[in-house]
Amino acid sequence: MAIQMKSLEQLQLMRAAGLVVAEALNLIKAAIAPGVTPLELDAIAADYLDAHNAIPSFLNYHGFPNVICASVNHEVVHGIPNERPLVSGDIISVDFGAIVNGWHGDSAFSVGVGAIDPADQKLMDTCEESMWRGIAAAKVGGHLSDISFAIENYIQSQGRYGILREYGGHGIGTEMHQEPHVINYGPAGLGPELKPGLALAIEPMITRGTERMKTLSDGWTVIASDKSNGAHFEHTFALLPDGKPFVTTAIDGGAADLGRFGIEISTLLR
Ligand code: MG
Ligand code: MG
Repeated sequence: MAIQMKSLEQLQLMRAAGLVVAEALNLIKAAIAPGVTPLELDAIAADYLDAHNAIPSFLNYHGFPNVICASVNHEVVHGIPNERPLVSGDIISVDFGAIVNGWHGDSAFSVGVGAIDPADQKLMDTCEESMWRGIAAAKVGGHLSDISFAIENYIQSQGRYGILREYGGHGIGTEMHQEPHVINYGPAGLGPELKPGLALAIEPMITRGTERMKTLSDGWTVIASDKSNGAHFEHTFALLPDGKPFVTTAIDGGAADLGRFGIEISTLLR
């Protein structure tokens, strides 16, 4: 399938969806504490969507039963929110997508609950920074795998982490998952040329141990086969007609984090 290239007007619609995702994830992050259940976090997202004329991307997607994915500890991605209260020392990854006027935003974060193992904090910090390095590597005239290489290169510089092989980022627009698939490893300089109008969700998924995964009997929850803890960060970004990036699911458009690499975000969106 061809890559769906977006006009400025269409990217403005994607920004609206991205802001809904960002605001809802901020509410969820603020609510995470010992004693809170993942199902309560799911309700926060559902209520926010209802109040903002937005539709969940995940609910009923291939039969997924909830609005968010909530993956705790060695659950790496696609966890189904449940009623088990979070306890101090847990880490949780929340993945969430929303549709506004037919256009999608998709974003995820991992965070610790109470006091956590410093090695889990380093896992999450490494995952988040690799996502930003990947987005920062996306330059007009470059190639898709420049992103993949930047992600893997940073993760490997930080220690021995497992990078999930079967999952990765993706094109996004009028559907949550579009071409091209964006792997989180491999050499630079390969794949489609990066052009204005391209919109991608970049989402490294890593563990403190193996890259080998298995899916639980619920048909969704993906865990590391060695049960090591996992982390997952994701943002949706686009390359604008001025050749500059804009992160649609970051409140500030990615200005602060891309600014660390000397990258100015586009002023065509706000
Ligand atoms: Mg996602
Ligand atoms: Mg995604």
